[in-house]
Amino acid sequence: MSPLPFFVSGKPVTGTGPTFVSRNPATGEVNYELSAASAADVDAAVASAQQAVRSAAWRNMRPHERARIIARIADGMAANADELAAIQMRENGKVIAECRTQVASAIATFRYFAAVCETLGSEVTPARGDYLSMTVYEPMGVIAAITPWNSPLTMEAQKVAPALAAGNAIIVKPSEVTPTAAILVARIAAEAGLPPGILNVVTGLGGDTGVALVQHPGVRMVSFTGGTGTGRAIGRICADRLIPTALELGGKSPNIVFEDADLDAAVAGVMGGIFEGSGQSCVAGSRLFVQKSVYNAFVDRLKAKTEALAVGMPTEPASKMGPLASFPHRDRVEGMVDIARKEGGDIIAGGRRPEQAALANGAFYLPTLIGGLTNAARVAQEEIFGPVLVILPFSDEADLVAQANDSVYGLACGIWTADYRRAWRVARAIEAGTIWINTYKQLSVATPFGGFKESGIGREKGISGVRLYQQAKGIYWDM
Ligand code: NAD
Repeated sequence: MSPLPFFVSGKPVTGTGPTFVSRNPATGEVNYELSAASAADVDAAVASAQQAVRSAAWRNMRPHERARIIARIADGMAANADELAAIQMRENGKVIAECRTQVASAIATFRYFAAVCETLGSEVTPARGDYLSMTVYEPMGVIAAITPWNSPLTMEAQKVAPALAAGNAIIVKPSEVTPTAAILVARIAAEAGLPPGILNVVTGLGGDTGVALVQHPGVRMVSFTGGTGTGRAIGRICADRLIPTALELGGKSPNIVFEDADLDAAVAGVMGGIFEGSGQSCVAGSRLFVQKSVYNAFVDRLKAKTEALAVGMPTEPASKMGPLASFPHRDRVEGMVDIARKEGGDIIAGGRRPEQAALANGAFYLPTLIGGLTNAARVAQEEIFGPVLVILPFSDEADLVAQANDSVYGLACGIWTADYRRAWRVARAIEAGTIWINTYKQLSVATPFGGFKESGIGREKGISGVRLYQQAKGIYWDM
């Protein structure tokens, strides 16, 4: 069978780079072979996007017409929702219910930015003396959107929908682990009436296709979601090229349980925060801080629930946790748990692969709780991106804030307490872009999202999510 083509200028294109395969992490089977974009293919994609973004058809399209196309992309995705969810499940192994939720979230993101596109305006400053000044917002031009494997469609939607609303052309480079859904979305967009060349997808490895895209002189901005190390490498190239970047990077987010919290609600929130998606979420609450007075009671409850969590095939509706997204990634997660053992960590639950024969061919790993370490341990400082929770005690609010902020990351934080004044104080003191109080992982497309410290630069979603893809121009008019 010939490799799956990617999508440029409104049509499928077979790349000239070396092919690669997508593998189902639940079974180890190959899903399909894919075509990869070489530097020459990237060149062709950028040329097509440049031509499309400068075309009168796109430049002069009224916002409400652009909004209608973006809304029709959402309709097309809704009509293909089952297939999009199945693709994600086959490629990153998340359980089917979660894949369906993520597809629904991606569709809602397109609908939100369609509405924003209709309402976006310019600003006029009243005449000072004898002139009028106006601020208009113009597109950047050609945007490169590079996305990770953990939530491929939602991450793509957060970039593509606002970049289209802002009038840009986009080239998406999805992760080589989850390359296919983006190709289907590009086809849906073409059918929705998006002019050829405005949304293109090139597949391939990060070090080849990704680097070629970031270095290409025709790309005017890079919007990246992925690991902090990769973000730093991309940021260096963009700094040299003097082009803007938006970087959504890794995290090591604290989930904090005070002694006055509703402990049952907190257990459920902590479990969802770390084990949903097998811990492969940028906002995973991977450091659990528990006040010493309730530490034993809380950890006992958490251990019982963790050991009862249904790990199974992602196709099974009863499964709450599927495999990790790839076999090399499971090796890495196992390696981090071994490091915790060597550092003197106490494995309270999990810490190994499941024993069921039915799961033996997949990249499964049990939900794992580790105690007995301090916040200085490597597993408390480094992002594991797996179902591994490090549990740390704290004495009082000051001790908690110092420990929680002792991290290079600053993406998210959960606070469980019945004291609303304390919730406010801690929310303001924690260095993170998103804070949840008595909840975890609630996200709204209307609320800006991004990281403090090494978790990123820039804010996606909301109105700021469109401004990211625009440049302001001041126009002065003699009156
Ligand atoms: P990754 O950094 O390995 O890869 C992300 C993307 O970058 C992929 O498409 C990859 O092919 C590409 N890439 C890799 N090297 C590149 C290079 N040198 N130049 C250009 N492109 C390159 O990340 P991943 O393993 O796919 O995803 C997991 C990471 O993503 C975690 O660290 C997670 O926290 C982070 N993440 C962050 C957010 C957020 O919003 N902050 C959301 C999801 C995931």
